[in-house]
Amino acid sequence: MTAIWAKHALLPEGWAENVRVELGVDGRIAKVETGSSSGGERVELLLPAMANVHSHAFQRAMAGLSEARGLQSRDTFWTWRQIMYRFLDHLTPEDVEAIAALVQMEMLEAGYATNVEFHYLHHQPGGARYDNVAEMSERIAAAAARTGIGLTLLPVHYQFGGVDRRPRGPGQRRFGTTPDEFGRLLEAVEGTLRHLPSDAGIGVAPHSLRAVSPEGLELCVNLRPERPLHMHLAEQIPEIEEVEVVYGRRPVEWLLDNHSPDRRWTLIHLTHMTVDETRRLAVTGAAAGLCPITESSLGDGIFNGTIWKEAGGRLGFGSDSNVRISLVEELRTLEYSQRLRDSARAVLAEPGRSTGRMLYEAGLDGGATAAGRESGAIAPGLWADLCAVSLFNPVLYARERDEILDSFIFAGDDSLVRDVWAAGRHVVRNGRHVDHEQIIAEYLGCIGRLQERM
Ligand code: ZN
Repeated sequence: MTAIWAKHALLPEGWAENVRVELGVDGRIAKVETGSSSGGERVELLLPAMANVHSHAFQRAMAGLSEARGLQSRDTFWTWRQIMYRFLDHLTPEDVEAIAALVQMEMLEAGYATNVEFHYLHHQPGGARYDNVAEMSERIAAAAARTGIGLTLLPVHYQFGGVDRRPRGPGQRRFGTTPDEFGRLLEAVEGTLRHLPSDAGIGVAPHSLRAVSPEGLELCVNLRPERPLHMHLAEQIPEIEEVEVVYGRRPVEWLLDNHSPDRRWTLIHLTHMTVDETRRLAVTGAAAGLCPITESSLGDGIFNGTIWKEAGGRLGFGSDSNVRISLVEELRTLEYSQRLRDSARAVLAEPGRSTGRMLYEAGLDGGATAAGRESGAIAPGLWADLCAVSLFNPVLYARERDEILDSFIFAGDDSLVRDVWAAGRHVVRNGRHVDHEQIIAEYLGCIGRLQERM
């Protein structure tokens, strides 16, 4: 039994002082006591730690390599995707493991406890199968065993190169799965996850309406009905136009007319929704999986945050391309996108709950369901996913209650994160992952070898 004593903590009922939290040997929170005099490892501020709901780990290694303009008249998501496809053709399973370990370590050091990995890089360059259908998935799981992060692994079903069912292009050969193969992959990944601590879990990810047919989506919906289902949706205008041509409806409209999304569903991006679509989807309980840094980087567009929130919509935050991994910056970027569009301030705040508090608590709630993880609050029975923040610094000193989160998110950065526990595993201490140096060294070795091959 480990105990943490926090001067301030964010509990389900709000802010509390002098809080003692007992962690069971099973990785769950055993007991929460307020007004406790002491006892346990002392921290200044204790927060529930959030799940990062959307990541493609391997893309971390191409961060910064797509910022020069090509010969085309306009650089877009689609030209970026070509660069990404060329890059991923050089990656070996060993590379993917080293990159994933770095990504997971950076997530933990930023204050996330869980990596929900949307994993579509299944095969060898050219598309030949590895002997083990789950070779690449096992590398993500091996990285999680190494870093101690909570892992929800989402094997991706990827059938086609476009909504009209054209074959996958040369850059997409490493992704493709037939329905049978996808079923086998899920089973193999479940076997792999049994070797991780019991907070690890699986989910199902039909890639997008571009890459799966209606039958493929139906298959995914039925495969593991009790586990989370994630899909990219309405990210780019050309994608919306393509769906409209083939299905006669916009993507969100089509989904609402053909499926019953609920809390099991996390829809990634949703940057292009009409007001009506925003309201209709928000009330279903499905979470919007927002990735504001990547959406800014790729020029995706601005999410309808104000309308979504007014309609009671749920959200989670992910780092997607991992061009930069920073929890506070994701939250801040979402709010700033709304301010720039609406010429207004504190757009996502509500009476009695500041902007920072609203963003953080929304991310906890959406993160927990998106990860299919009993977490998201400091409460007995939940996984001990916790983040301790230092208050003795120029940004947070003498701040109180919601002001602490507002200052952390809008004026601070990840260096304020002191300690992180993922299902009770104390993996970040004093601002550093316990295996920081070694993980960096292995990542640098991987990048050096990769550069020689490219
Ligand atoms: Zn994505």
